[in-house]
Amino acid sequence: MYNFLQLGQWDLIGNSTLIVLTNRRSPVKVLRNQEKGTLTLRPSSEAEAAVLREIQTSVPLGEKLHYEGRGGASPNDPVSERMRISFALNGGKFDLLATTDEDEHPVRWTRDAIYFSGGGLTLLGHQEIDGLPVLDFTIAHCKLCNKPIISMGECEWKTCNACKDVCNHEYERGMVHGGSAGIMAVGEFCAKCGRGKPEPEGARKKSQIENELLVQRELGVHVLYANLPLGMGPTDLVQAKRFARRLERARKRNQSADGGKRSSA
Ligand SMILES: [Zn+2]
Ligand SMILES: [Zn+2]
Repeated sequence: MYNFLQLGQWDLIGNSTLIVLTNRRSPVKVLRNQEKGTLTLRPSSEAEAAVLREIQTSVPLGEKLHYEGRGGASPNDPVSERMRISFALNGGKFDLLATTDEDEHPVRWTRDAIYFSGGGLTLLGHQEIDGLPVLDFTIAHCKLCNKPIISMGECEWKTCNACKDVCNHEYERGMVHGGSAGIMAVGEFCAKCGRGKPEPEGARKKSQIENELLVQRELGVHVLYANLPLGMGPTDLVQAKRFARRLERARKRNQSADGGKRSSA
């Protein structure tokens, strides 16, 4: 059973990071405690406390506030609009948003973790501090030990880091991403905890395009580039590069042929 966070544990120690989010009116302080797997929302004004009070009085412990998507997809949007994530609340919505560039990443990590765990914010507990409601949430629970989890890696596999560390890995081949794999690669990962198999020492690092070609060839996943003309993928890019090299060679041959003609004239 989950225990409430104690007041003293709100200090920034260990794996905790303080991030400040706001609803549309005023900032809410959010304490991200990686070790405990909790996001603690603490209001900084009465106006904002009203939102948390509504959650406190109407949402049962253990219930999920479902993720309703994000706003502001463009990096040119003002920062307060760029990373806004919404949650359902009693037929309305509750927003968390980054108001500074610094806050954008923690909000993005929270969004990514929620995206991978396929849910929202689960209310774990609440308490009164200085007459204001302070609420503890998590994103998912470890499928093995039920510990609350908030990081993307843990949420994607619903496995906490402690359970990953003691896993008897069963590796299989498939799509991997993140870390040295970049956006995507073919590699081996554990089917139980999701941890990638370490690369052998001194292995040559493949380029992104090599990885994408392997993903296409081995896994049959068709890779397309969003920043190239519609329907173009790594195979087209390799062909385009080959074609460009061929043109360049032809151009040089023509140049030297022209030069030969001129010198003989
Ligand atoms: Zn666990
Ligand atoms: Zn494993």
